[in-house]
Order: sequence, then structure tokens, then C-alpha cells
Amino acid sequence: MAPPNANAVKENMSTIPTCPQCTLENVYQDRDNYVCADCGYEWPMAGDASAEDSTASVVKDANGNVLANGDAVVLIKDLKVKGSSITLKVGSKVKSIRLVDGGDHEVDCKMDAGSFMLKACFLRKV
Ligand SMILES: [Zn+2]
Repeated sequence: MAPPNANAVKENMSTIPTCPQCTLENVYQDRDNYVCADCGYEWPMAGDASAEDSTASVVKDANGNVLANGDAVVLIKDLKVKGSSITLKVGSKVKSIRLVDGGDHEVDCKMDAGSFMLKACFLRKV
């Protein structure tokens, strides 16, 4: 006697991809992840499309590293602060950044000279 949901399970099985690590098909579902029985590799079930959505608002530094609140960064070039005579020097360190929403200046930096909104592309994570 087959369980009533046998067909559903079978359909589900057929959508399981091969392992991106070892390319074998011995893959099973574990909650929201796929798990490869052969090499033990685990990856989320969410498709590429949703992964792109979630990276849309990610802020990256000059090297493409993802920045997060509280990260320490250094300036990779001199930045003149608009409306003032202050120039933030290349190599200046910011101990703890804060990411902000909107505009093209994504990073709020508290420095000795004050608090400035900077572009992530002029910063490097340390
Ligand atoms: Zn594998």
C-alpha cells in the first residue's frame, strides 16, 4: 500500500538538482537545503533568481567585498568633503561603519573630523 502522497513525493524528487560540488545525483532535501550524500555539500533550495533579489541592496567595497554594519574600512583615495575645506586622506581608517539606505552614498562613517556619508567604492574593508 503506497502512501497517498507518493506521487507528490516523486514529483518533488525529480526537481532535485545534481550536486554543484561533485556533480553526482545522490542529493536529498533537508528542510530548506539540498544535501549531497556523497560529498556532504549543502546548499539552499532557493533558486538563483531569489539570490539575485537579495543581493540587490548589498553594499560592496572597492574590492567587491560585502560591507556590513560595524565593519572597519580604510579610504582608498583622498575624498574632499562637499561644502567644506575638509579632505579625508587616503588610508584614513573608519573603525565602525553604518550602512544607510538610498542615494549613492551608502556608508555612514564616523571619523575624527566628523561624520560623513561616503561611497562604498572608495572604501576597502580591513
Ligand atoms: Zn556532492
